[in-house]
Amino acid sequence: MIIVVMREKASVKNLGAVIGRIEDASGRAHISRDADRTILGVVGVGKSLIETLVEMEGVERVTPLETPYKLASREFQPSSSTVTIGGIAVGGPEFVVMAGPCAVESLDQTLEAAHAVKRAGAHMLRGGAFKPRTSPYSFQGLGEKGLEILAVARKATGLPVVTEVMAVQDIPMVARYADVLQVGARNMQNFNLLQELGKARKPVLLKRGLMSSLEEFLMSAEYILSHGNSQVILCERGIRTFERMTRNTLDISAVPVLKKRTHLPIMVDPSHAAGEWDLVPSLSRAALAAGADGLIIEVHPRPSEALSDGPQALKPETFMGLMNELRAISAAMGRSMAPVKELVGAIIDRPGRDS
Ligand code: PEP
Ligand code: MN
Repeated sequence: MIIVVMREKASVKNLGAVIGRIEDASGRAHISRDADRTILGVVGVGKSLIETLVEMEGVERVTPLETPYKLASREFQPSSSTVTIGGIAVGGPEFVVMAGPCAVESLDQTLEAAHAVKRAGAHMLRGGAFKPRTSPYSFQGLGEKGLEILAVARKATGLPVVTEVMAVQDIPMVARYADVLQVGARNMQNFNLLQELGKARKPVLLKRGLMSSLEEFLMSAEYILSHGNSQVILCERGIRTFERMTRNTLDISAVPVLKKRTHLPIMVDPSHAAGEWDLVPSLSRAALAAGADGLIIEVHPRPSEALSDGPQALKPETFMGLMNELRAISAAMGRSMAPVKELVGAIIDRPGRDS
């Protein structure tokens, strides 16, 4: 890819001429608009076109982009992008929290969880209807019935819903119910799935693979972006290392590294990283302090009865205490977290008192 940075004062005519020249050479220009200038990411042309383009009116500079990820890069788009879900912009000043059970188990359990996380100030409801389980004998999720339950919970609480899609053939169905399509860690390199999600008109929450480098992670985002969907949110959820005292190792440095290299919003999932509920608050605070745009946290009304990931689920009262702490830290970080009316007078339960 070649990056063409237009001058601040370049006219529409200048831009049209540059794009025309690129298309004459059988190339294609991806356009990114910054606050004050336009940047083109040109594909399908040789480097020899650089000399021609740099001479054109309105062009400030032309450079080849050497990173393997292109549309995801800060070179292509210097300003951070936001992904708006139900009126909430992820990647903007607001620190966004998605919370809910690992899996949708029943209508009652989901509604209970949804109301609880809403009361604590969560912005969105998470819950899996299709579960990628290591064992084929474990609970696999309720499928479409689970999606229907999520739709009921959204109606009851007004919270947008994020849920996983595991297979290409399920995309239309999951997209009918969900506000955000989650790609699980195990599917981060399911390139067919990524390509098809690139054609979807819904935001995608892309989780980092268990064994994936950050470059591979960005290349997976590139698959979605290059197929036409610019609404991608990255999610660091811990990687597999030699350490066995946590389920995974939360790669906290992924947050500033990704922030430096990509304009895409970055969330952190402390639950799957930790594997144990009492570690979740620390990792959550660290993620916010490191510059993450939000968190996705597992919360279950009765963790001991959960059909999946019970040991890492927060009880609603612990989650509420954590949200209050996050609100304080976000203020110190220069970010906002909307205050919640219902929180006034609420008893803050510290994590240490949970079971
Ligand atoms: C989940 O969010 O419940 C999940 C399965 O996460 P991951 O794909 O990160 O393991
Ligand atoms: Mn889970």
